[in-house]
Amino acid sequence: MSTVFETPAQATPAPATTAEAIRAAEARSAHNYHPLPIVIASAQGAWTTDIEGRRALDLLAGYSALNFGHGHPRLIRAAKDQLDRVTLTSRAFHHDRFGEFCAQLADLCGMETVLPMNTGAEAVESAVKVARKWGYEVKGVAPGQARVVVAANNFHGRTTTIVSFSTDPDARTGFGPFTPGFDVVPYGDAAALAAALTEDTVAVLLEPIQGEAGVLVPPPGYLAQVRELTARHDVLMIADEIQSGLGRTGRTFACEHEGVVPDVYLLGKALGGGVVPVSAVVSSQAVLGVLRPGQHGSTFGGNPLACAVALEVIAMLRTGEFQQRATELGAHMHARLGEMTATGLLEAVRGRGLWAGVDVPARHGGGSAVARRLLESGVLVKDTHGSTIRLAPPLVIGQEDLDWGLDRLADVLSEPA
Ligand code: PLP
Repeated sequence: MSTVFETPAQATPAPATTAEAIRAAEARSAHNYHPLPIVIASAQGAWTTDIEGRRALDLLAGYSALNFGHGHPRLIRAAKDQLDRVTLTSRAFHHDRFGEFCAQLADLCGMETVLPMNTGAEAVESAVKVARKWGYEVKGVAPGQARVVVAANNFHGRTTTIVSFSTDPDARTGFGPFTPGFDVVPYGDAAALAAALTEDTVAVLLEPIQGEAGVLVPPPGYLAQVRELTARHDVLMIADEIQSGLGRTGRTFACEHEGVVPDVYLLGKALGGGVVPVSAVVSSQAVLGVLRPGQHGSTFGGNPLACAVALEVIAMLRTGEFQQRATELGAHMHARLGEMTATGLLEAVRGRGLWAGVDVPARHGGGSAVARRLLESGVLVKDTHGSTIRLAPPLVIGQEDLDWGLDRLADVLSEPA
């Protein structure tokens, strides 16, 4: 017996061919984003092409989900091969890519156990659940008392629990009541963190570099102090490497820059190669072993297509090539951004590897105005928080293209305000 795919009763509508038509179609979308006025139709490597055939250099890379660029041939091949075999089984059954994916990812992280999910927010939510259960079952915290310490200006996603411990009014206002059990401390202040730890604290959840906050690198030694404090107080250190991880900073994990190994890694974005959403909580068996069948799950988490693409991502990361590119091109990019700061074109620059937050002078009318002018020059970036622009070029970008993009930034910032 073969499966029959029926012809749809109604003809599929012809695709919109003009920017106006596509924008009109977007009028039916919830207005939870404010995209720049470009309608991308295709993309390859670091370049996008819009529906009128104009090319633009992508210096955002899907907020680091596209670390390997658009349409990397290895990732597209892995996806296509898997599409021809099986895409979804649910976890009701085993499939032949799952064990390999968990083993390879655990190995890449130097950990034992993997809990696969889909989006970054789901990985964070899952880690909070697991940390609480670990607190009750292993640490011996009294029922219902578990607390998690987080940092001010964090960004860990958009779910109800995650916005409960956000300090951004836009993320929170109108979405209460909030999930209790979180303590917020200033980012980068180890003494404040030490003071917040109690016998009910089960975890400290941090971004090793705060991305959304403007690519804020903590003071040297901070992550190592967090590691020491959490170990001493029997508290899990959870590193949200969803944006900072998988090559972006020049290492597989941003924590490596301080020689720190957390108890739990949270991964997402680039783990799916910009092809499919893939996220994971990666930890020890002592931590993830608290989950039993029926206590947590996801229909799509760990599906065969996700596993196939992520396996290719892991294989690519193992070559070290992308981390090296991020180190070398990142040094070049930061040298150039440093010059722009020295000459007054930029107010400040922060970051690590091929990742930077730049503050533009107020005379330009804010980061979003600069992003719009860059778009007109053929460069895609996005502002974050007022006057800051985040630069996260795909790690596959060529130096000439990177320089071209940075020249356009210098041009825009040199224009009279
Ligand atoms: N954690 C960090 C550090 C992030 O930067 C993001 C997204 O930007 C998330 C979690 C949430 O990921 P997602 O948008 O896939 O839910």
